[in-house]
Amino acid sequence: MNLWENNVRRVVPYTPGEQPKCSYIIKLNTNENPFPPSPKAAQIVKEFDSDKLRLYPDTDSTVLVDALAERYGVDSDRIFVGVGSDDVLSMAFLTFFNSDKPVIFPDITYSFYDVWCDVYRIKYETKALKDDFTIDANDYFCENGGIVIPNPNAPTGVLQSVDMFESILKANTNSVVIVDEAYIDFGGESCVKLIDKYENLLVVQTFSKSRSMAGARIGYAFGSKKLIKYLNDVKFSINSYTMNWVTQLAGAESVKDEEYFQKTKNEIVRVREYSKEKLAELGFEFPDSMSNFIFATHKTVPAKTIFEKLKEKSIFVRYWNKDRINNHLRITIGTQEQMDKLFEALCEILSENERS
Ligand code: PMP
Repeated sequence: MNLWENNVRRVVPYTPGEQPKCSYIIKLNTNENPFPPSPKAAQIVKEFDSDKLRLYPDTDSTVLVDALAERYGVDSDRIFVGVGSDDVLSMAFLTFFNSDKPVIFPDITYSFYDVWCDVYRIKYETKALKDDFTIDANDYFCENGGIVIPNPNAPTGVLQSVDMFESILKANTNSVVIVDEAYIDFGGESCVKLIDKYENLLVVQTFSKSRSMAGARIGYAFGSKKLIKYLNDVKFSINSYTMNWVTQLAGAESVKDEEYFQKTKNEIVRVREYSKEKLAELGFEFPDSMSNFIFATHKTVPAKTIFEKLKEKSIFVRYWNKDRINNHLRITIGTQEQMDKLFEALCEILSENERS
């Protein structure tokens, strides 16, 4: 190793789900939405005046923030937007997790959290989920440098109550508590209703899942005026012009198209409930999911085998070779047609397995 390499900030990066280049794949591996974005957002992209690209974008993303403020009934100065919720969360880690005490989060959770802790040199500790993959709130009643928990959790899909989060907030007035609600729109109750009561609560959401705009990269957070100001101070100390014009405008139109949002989201919830029945019939077990994916294990066939055989059939789901979850598959909810193809493939794989 060369001496200069001693000074390099070395990290083991987050591994995103595979993004295959070919279009014939049934892609159920990264929790994207199978439906197109709102036609109103699509129209903005189509009609975008490229001359606007000459100018830097609005640093405050005003049209987008105002649309979110209107939709959620939260003042604009209590909303922060970023380039995907990964950007919002990473900024929040950098801004709020600056203590000698460890930040705490579940052992089975979004696998970016420990990566941000490593890159920003933040101490952390994980708290084991119970065997049924639920969180024990008591684990969070301890001294800490911050808390981050997804609700519903990923990759388990398990939703916990706003009351449980409130109990954690009551016990933690000395650190920032982040609730990552990437999947909340698929049937959960948001903790956003608690932001008036708890100045140290940050609730993070995204356009990537329920709004079909993963490619646009839009995330946002709700919190007290103070929290949002601190976040913006750090953001503006790194890069002021993060979100491009087209994204800001298309995002705002998407938020205004409530009817389309409800229609597509309800269809995913319907297909998810149907998928639960089908998976159970095929011998899978899973915690009840309130997200746009199901975290399933088969009673007899190893998850890794199913993952590989599905891949041979051009169906991608997500598998992690990690402690406690190496016999589970995370299956994103696609369209009815995609899911039926998945179930057909699973039937074949499971019966081949019985014969061999
Ligand atoms: N939080 C959780 C729990 C997620 O699963 C994801 C998706 N990978 C994100 C945040 C980030 O999503 P995005 O950056 O696309 O908003």
